[in-house]
Amino acid sequence: MNRIDAIRPELVERIPKVLDNGVIYISLKFRTAAHNCCCGCGTKIVTPLKPGRWRLETEDGAVSLTPSIGNWSAGCQSHYWIRDNRIEWAPAFTPKQIAANRASDQRARQQAHTERYRRERGFWGRLWDAIKGLWQAFMNWF
Ligand SMILES: [Zn+2]
Repeated sequence: MNRIDAIRPELVERIPKVLDNGVIYISLKFRTAAHNCCCGCGTKIVTPLKPGRWRLETEDGAVSLTPSIGNWSAGCQSHYWIRDNRIEWAPAFTPKQIAANRASDQRARQQAHTERYRRERGFWGRLWDAIKGLWQAFMNWF
């Protein structure tokens, strides 16, 4: 395996089928980034850029991705951070940490979903809730 220590961002319209090692492809249109696992195993790692998943920050052409990349479903079990185009290798996850990570991913996704739902329901949904609340208060009065 050929671990790399740096990655180069490339803005693309859509993520190509075959990725070059050492390049992180960023599609703003599809709000996704993808790169080959930095250990050299060839696993394509897709990181959706949306609430509850990954956040991409750019500064002077250098990208950072939060949270870390954990390639625990593939054999290599790589774990690293992408910070300012550098790969910071982190210790591999233990099975216990993997489970904890999955749970917190799930929670974050759930939270993002709840927020979206609240926003999309909008005015009429909230009005309905208010009327229902009033009605219940009214009924409880008697
Ligand atoms: Zn790997």
